[in-house]
Amino acid sequence: MDIDFDRQHLWHPYTSMADPLPVYPVKSARGVMIELEDGRQLIDGMSSWWAAIHGYNHPALNRAAVEQLGRMSHVMFGGLTHEPAIELGRLLTGLLPDPLDRVFFCDSGSVSVEVSIKMALQYWQAAGRPAKKRLLTVRSGYHGDTFMAMSVCDPVTGMHSLFSGVLPEQLFAEAPACRFHEPWREEAIAEMRELLEVHASTIAAVIIEPIVQGAGGMRFYSPVYLQRLRELCSEHGVLLIFDEIATGFGRTGRMFAMEHAGVTPDIVCLGKALTGGYMTLAATVATGHVADTISGGNPGLFMHGPTFMANPLACAVAVASLKLLLSGDWQSSVRRIEKQLAEELAPCATLPGVRDVRVLGAIGVVELDRPVDMVRIQKAFVERGVWIRPFGRLVYLMPPFIIRDDELSLLAAAAYEVIRKECG
Ligand SMILES: *Cc1c(COP(=O)(O)O)cnc(C)c1O
Repeated sequence: MDIDFDRQHLWHPYTSMADPLPVYPVKSARGVMIELEDGRQLIDGMSSWWAAIHGYNHPALNRAAVEQLGRMSHVMFGGLTHEPAIELGRLLTGLLPDPLDRVFFCDSGSVSVEVSIKMALQYWQAAGRPAKKRLLTVRSGYHGDTFMAMSVCDPVTGMHSLFSGVLPEQLFAEAPACRFHEPWREEAIAEMRELLEVHASTIAAVIIEPIVQGAGGMRFYSPVYLQRLRELCSEHGVLLIFDEIATGFGRTGRMFAMEHAGVTPDIVCLGKALTGGYMTLAATVATGHVADTISGGNPGLFMHGPTFMANPLACAVAVASLKLLLSGDWQSSVRRIEKQLAEELAPCATLPGVRDVRVLGAIGVVELDRPVDMVRIQKAFVERGVWIRPFGRLVYLMPPFIIRDDELSLLAAAAYEVIRKECG
């Protein structure tokens, strides 16, 4: 593999082209194992960023892709439709709470966030309240890298200052301060409540990642926050958007994280694990009320339509992935992973330099006092035969649901040892 070409010509996520970080060439991946070009085998602790819930190279997903290839990999969705889109729409609306039943398929998580925000803006246009244009969210959030999505990411970690004057300025409340297992404290939502009381007449929607704030800090917060937020949004006439792109499809122990709170948003964004990590596909699902209001306004159309909308190949794989999830006992797998992560990451809390250890569903997080030295820590993990990719002060595990106990133990032991050696 021509690694020099990669270094000179290919951008990787959040990297410099002048001084690129090392990358490891991958030959293939199967189950929970990633095989490097030089033959080394790594146990995958990342699910390729929340996505590969069934592991890699799964026969059922491969079969779905090959069968769909034999029919067509793509046709335009303007004026045409197909079975994979219909079947996927049926599965998603069946899984989501009842009022969420109007599905917009799009290309990636960020685009699904853009689509959800456009829906909110068009909704208020159609409802005769065009002044409701701003968004309200919480700090420490992450919603993607396109401009409108960026505008609702954490202003500090999202480096809003770089794009000032271009990025729309949104409203931010403090991040939900009450942790997942803590007793609820009403002041945890005080600033959000105040901002809604003062600014509701100009706010189109609140957007938030339910229960788990992912790339903005891997924080788990109280379900009561979402219950209060739902009440506040309804009371003040503000739409509620849940970004379930990271949390959807079982990761937190529920099919969707919103189920921990038993509340339903007006619009939900899905992505990442939707195709079991095979290819990019996302969906924005709105309630009938939102869809009907947009459709009853002027111009009466929803103004979005990507070239690869509802790509049949991606939809067919997503259908296979959902069927695989529903046919297996994913709840037990996630519970088993949760229990084991809690037990086996707990010793990390005693290490110098470790601030916090927390686990929810199939997500285990070790938060450090200081940012890690990425190059050194990455190399140490690879040398121990695991693929764990920290960011900032966070070393975290979110393995495929199919991981075995012994493999998970190796991941947890590697996390402990590498933090002990490299981060103390
Ligand atoms: C990853 C992520 C996105 C962006 O999805 P992309 O597919 O990378 O565009 C948006 N929101 C959340 C919560 C995410 O985790």
